[in-house]
Amino acid sequence: MIDQLMNKTHDESRQGEAYAPFVRDPNEYRKRFYIESYGCQMNFADSEVVAAILNQEGYGATRELTEADLIFINTCSIREKAEQTVRKRLTEFRKLKESKKGMLVGVLGCMAERLKAQFLEEEKLVDIVVGPDAYRSLPALVSEAESGQKAVNVLLSRDETYADISPVRLDNNGVSAFVSIMRGCNNMCSFCVVPFTRGRERSRDASSIIRECRDLFENGYREVTLLGQNVDSYYYVDENGQETVTFARLMEAVASISPLLRVRFSTSHPKDITDEVLYTMARHENICKYIHLPVQSGSTRILQLMNRTYTREWYMAKVDRIREILPECGISSDIIAGFCTEEEKDHADTLAVMAYSRYDMSYMFIYSERPGTLAQRRYTDDIPEPVKKRRLQEIVELQNRLSLESNRADIGKTFTVLIEGDSKRSDQDWMGRNSQNKVIVFPKKAGSSLKAGDYADVRVHDCTQATLLGNLI
Ligand code: SF4
Repeated sequence: MIDQLMNKTHDESRQGEAYAPFVRDPNEYRKRFYIESYGCQMNFADSEVVAAILNQEGYGATRELTEADLIFINTCSIREKAEQTVRKRLTEFRKLKESKKGMLVGVLGCMAERLKAQFLEEEKLVDIVVGPDAYRSLPALVSEAESGQKAVNVLLSRDETYADISPVRLDNNGVSAFVSIMRGCNNMCSFCVVPFTRGRERSRDASSIIRECRDLFENGYREVTLLGQNVDSYYYVDENGQETVTFARLMEAVASISPLLRVRFSTSHPKDITDEVLYTMARHENICKYIHLPVQSGSTRILQLMNRTYTREWYMAKVDRIREILPECGISSDIIAGFCTEEEKDHADTLAVMAYSRYDMSYMFIYSERPGTLAQRRYTDDIPEPVKKRRLQEIVELQNRLSLESNRADIGKTFTVLIEGDSKRSDQDWMGRNSQNKVIVFPKKAGSSLKAGDYADVRVHDCTQATLLGNLI
């Protein structure tokens, strides 16, 4: 089935699919909603699904808070700080809600799922609480709240993937889009709330993913990022059990839509980065040579407490394998400092794995104990805050050195850059990314017809820790 789809034209493949066009005429809408998203890319992709569901019900999106009849916050629960940010934002909505009769406030996402109806007790101005698997019930919940009731649906699902809903693209550059391919996570990393707030893993129908990517390409997008909490454990079996689609096969199908469509993916668990995935990446130039490979800790003892299912030696061998099959591949990571019982030796192991892996960049945090997780139930959060912060500082300093070294090594090289738009610093410069996901800024050339969504060859002449600086060739 997937092979036939790879050769089908756009129109043939859309037969029977109730695809909503991107955005309806805003004046068609009877009411307006404003949505603010926090946390991971999955949440931002979910907000686009929510926008499509509300659009179908006659609600139009607005970026102006004061114009909204409905305000939604798509929340994150990965760290305590993320939840504090949401609570602070809700207090800022209080005045607005008091000033606008009938205005409703709703919370979506992982914090809504974690707190459930308790959210209504803790935050009185909240009218609607909806978990990540219950967005289809939003129209009913909104009319319930419009009738003065508090409305809650936090049921997790074993099969919901919103496969038939065409997301309404919010706030993006028209060049690059997220496409969620699976939901939930079956790994039970001891520090993580995701399995409790997003439920069990389920992979989306492969043909609906290919249709969405082809649709994006035909609407001018030139890059898709395949999304999942644990994207590389994607495994789809069609309803007759006839066909199975692995992550590698799916990536190949999406890459075959057009060599002009770049394919990225996020986030991987190291254990699922197979040789099949790496060789598929090597076969397709438009599958970007960049892997986000969260390590979390460099100490095997801590990795066991985290239930990460691999050792430091195994992880370093995986980095070697990636570089063997994809020598030019960029690698980034996630690192937690100060996990329960972490000693200076464990911290030193983390710094050593970072130096060994030569990450281009990393997301680095101190351990934040999350209610209901395995770690919270089994271990004591015993590392003093100042020690956590000092270790994080050392990790950040090392990563800054590694990022600068990696960028300096690119000086003199030429990269094919996908132009995303004007650089933040100056509209005289273009900003884009190379295959390794590095940001490259370069001056526009007078008289050039280049525009966002075009590819350009750029030679790097300098860099900062975060950006490569180049010239068009
Ligand atoms: S792989 Fe681990 S850290 Fe990532 S979402 Fe799943 S449980 Fe959380």
